[in-house]
Amino acid sequence: MRVLIVGNGGREHALAWKLLQSPQVQQIICVPGNGGTATLERCRNLPLNVDDFEGIARFAFVNNVGLIVVGPEVPLALGITDYLQEKELKVFGPTRAGAQIESSKAWAKALMEAANIPTAKAAVFTTEAAAKAYVRSEGVPIVIKADGLAAGKGVTVADTVEAADTAIAACFEGQYGSAGDQVVIEECLTGQEVSILAVTDGLTIRPLLPVQDHKRIGDGDTGENTGGMGAYAPAPMVTEAVMGRIQTEILEPAIAALQNRNIDYRGVLYAGLMITPAGDPKVIEFNCRFGDPETQALMPLLDTPIDKLMVACANQTLESFPEIQWKSGTAACVVVASGGYPGSYLRKLEITGIEQAEKESVVFHAGTQLRNQKLITDGGRVLGVSAIGETFDQAFDLAYAAVNAIQFEGMYYRRDIGHRVRAVGSS
Ligand code: ATP
Repeated sequence: MRVLIVGNGGREHALAWKLLQSPQVQQIICVPGNGGTATLERCRNLPLNVDDFEGIARFAFVNNVGLIVVGPEVPLALGITDYLQEKELKVFGPTRAGAQIESSKAWAKALMEAANIPTAKAAVFTTEAAAKAYVRSEGVPIVIKADGLAAGKGVTVADTVEAADTAIAACFEGQYGSAGDQVVIEECLTGQEVSILAVTDGLTIRPLLPVQDHKRIGDGDTGENTGGMGAYAPAPMVTEAVMGRIQTEILEPAIAALQNRNIDYRGVLYAGLMITPAGDPKVIEFNCRFGDPETQALMPLLDTPIDKLMVACANQTLESFPEIQWKSGTAACVVVASGGYPGSYLRKLEITGIEQAEKESVVFHAGTQLRNQKLITDGGRVLGVSAIGETFDQAFDLAYAAVNAIQFEGMYYRRDIGHRVRAVGSS
């Protein structure tokens, strides 16, 4: 089978890497891909934009592509799946209607309310005055969210009324474009965050291993929010009992609620959860695609051929699919970023040491480009270095040893990824 992957991040490189381990997968095409997917054997990049649905459909049709896997949320929210399904192509990823679970936080909240899914108390506003009045009636801390997609920048956890007012004003003044036309204001939850990625064919839903990532740029979970600086799996705080509750209280009701809305959802449903101090899982957000860097931690542990799992979702035969198999042990992923990220940073810096790093780890590329046979930086998050081990200490030791073999000017990474699960807190 020939598989086309839409996207250019570390997530897509990890998916390509995993797909290529399946004997049935002969070739991968990444649209547009990155320096990592350019160097994988039996994989090639196709320089189209992720919103060029027509170009993608034409290529897939002419080249007999058996499955299209959509990585990022933006093309899903724009309706890439609807477009490709209309052309009778097989797609792993929800339709535009299903993608609303990520592309509109107000829509997702309404779905959760209808399905009685545990989540933070919330209200939706379309005027600045009403939003500000609500903050005063509820008090702080409180969470202000632009309704639509804002590349992770539209959420403010406000500790003061002034900070809440500033965040509300930013939404209504158009800082996030039309994403801020509606504002969701939520109760501030406390606890530990965990990501549950589940695969679904719209009828059956199966969770992957629980993952924890690290959103903040600085050691000790300090500083600005980022796309994610590292991850590990399986997150030990999600015990079997907690996973059972996540399945029955969150994942199954979400699928039932989507069905009630006549939405045929085939792909990943990702629940970003807070496990409260009382041990209760509550939904912070839903995403309609694989997480990044969660995927880079999960793929090295997955034993089940992922092409088969994805095809079962696309064909709506997940119920009879065998139990998902995992390698024993743990996985660690450390993200290597450009100096200055998540602020401004330099690009086009030469990267060396990948070969050495890959001796006992796997290096997933995110912001890289292959130019004249040289690998150069091309983004904020540059690489995700993943390793597996019997214990978290072993996995992180291998991942950090690999990171230390890599060089480019100004490279930055957190030294304390996995601090909650490692005996030694830093490398
Ligand atoms: P991303 O794209 O980075 O996943 P997003 O823009 O979709 O983020 P959310 O995931 O809803 O936004 O929120 C971003 C972060 O803000 C969360 O990971 C969490 O740390 C914090 N957060 C969001 N909602 C709450 C809440 N109700 N209580 C406490 N913290 C919250």
